[in-house]
Amino acid sequence: MLAEIKGLNEECGIFGIWGHEDAARLTYYGLHSLQHRGQEGAGIVAAHNGSLSGHKGLGLVTDVFQSGTLDALKGAAAIGHVRYSTAGGGGYENVQPLLFRSQTGAMALAHNGNLTNAIELKLALEGQGSIFQTTSDTEVFAHLIRRSQAPTFVEQMKEALSQIEGAFAFLLLTEKALYAALDPHGFRPLSLGRLGSAYVVASETCAFDVIGATYEREVAPGELLIISREGVRSERFASRQPRSICSMEYIYFARPDSHVDGINVHTARKNLGKRLALEAPADADIVTGVPDSSISVAIGYAEASGIPYELGLIKNRYVGRTFIQPSQALREQGVKMKLSPVRGVVAGKRVVMVDDSIVRGTTSRRIVSMLREAGAVEVHVRISAPPITHPCFYGIDTSSKEELIAANRTVEEIRRLIGADSLAFISQEGMLEAIGRPDVSPQRGQCLACFTGQYPTRLGQAARPCLTMK
Ligand code: SF4
Repeated sequence: MLAEIKGLNEECGIFGIWGHEDAARLTYYGLHSLQHRGQEGAGIVAAHNGSLSGHKGLGLVTDVFQSGTLDALKGAAAIGHVRYSTAGGGGYENVQPLLFRSQTGAMALAHNGNLTNAIELKLALEGQGSIFQTTSDTEVFAHLIRRSQAPTFVEQMKEALSQIEGAFAFLLLTEKALYAALDPHGFRPLSLGRLGSAYVVASETCAFDVIGATYEREVAPGELLIISREGVRSERFASRQPRSICSMEYIYFARPDSHVDGINVHTARKNLGKRLALEAPADADIVTGVPDSSISVAIGYAEASGIPYELGLIKNRYVGRTFIQPSQALREQGVKMKLSPVRGVVAGKRVVMVDDSIVRGTTSRRIVSMLREAGAVEVHVRISAPPITHPCFYGIDTSSKEELIAANRTVEEIRRLIGADSLAFISQEGMLEAIGRPDVSPQRGQCLACFTGQYPTRLGQAARPCLTMK
């Protein structure tokens, strides 16, 4: 999983807890386990004695929360956020949770996803006198709540939720309750769990495991959960739409130990590997996967093909983030620093190199060349996603169409460009069957827009792809 250098980045991870005296500390642990979903900023807001207070900053969770910071965040409820900046850019002011104070009380907001009509709404709100503190589309939601004339806070939230479009998993904290909402298509995962008498909500179930919480259920698309002293109440703010959960969550983003909408991610990836082996066999000596996300796929490929799995590539976990390096040359150097071939394993071997996706092609070309430099005699590249031909508008930074190598070239052209002996992508049908969602729709409840260009929602006039090329 080489998100930063590949140009395919998850936007955010969110975590919330209600009813535990160590809420901020547990949120810290939860965010730590969601760190793979965003490394540019982190924040926590806790509710204590009728008020909200928070801490946030740029960087990794462990950088932002030094000793003592967490002790200051008291209270039995908290929400937290890890951010990869897509819409709005990466400044400090855009790090979440966003905290708003008004005469009627304070609220904190954490968002995973991307609103496709944010610019339209923002222009309309500015026309009505709103002033925005951030360039993040998340703030639009807070303004919509505050402007609502509905009689109760829950009705105000529902009215605001019904006006926004695109992908959103929201956590909102007030002194009185924790609210969780998922967009009507359910692009992003959002799960509810229990820790004793406390409730937890998180982008991925790995955050439950780390704090010892048990999984209860998914937050349903179009559902608003209200968690308070009275327990959990469920309301709907939108009619049920066909589910469109992001395919890349299974293929690439989520941690292998997470369950995404009931399916274990490692198992899904292993099945992708098995299917790839059937669809695109290779005459080779070893199978290796690009760490981390493609290890499970490589294990599946090896199992189905009978070719032994080997650790042919090692990830160096202690190098700095490469996406702050703007030029292509430095980005390529970044690949080299992040990954090393294991010479003793690949030298003299015909290698099947399994990866999850090809975005710009830069990373694949570097890895193929590294394997050859380490003595591999053949490199056969197998990809566990169909070709990415369209940008994402739902919170994943997949680059613009011009930069997507598969949007503009045939598989054979890509093979030549990355210097592989052979190249194959999994078929769309194979991908859907391997992930194995029980959904009966032709898309099996998955979003396929970056492979097909068929977007499940209207794209607002000013919708922009989640484009923050660094
Ligand atoms: S367009 Fe692709 S990356 Fe974006 S939500 Fe859909 S499947 Fe995920």
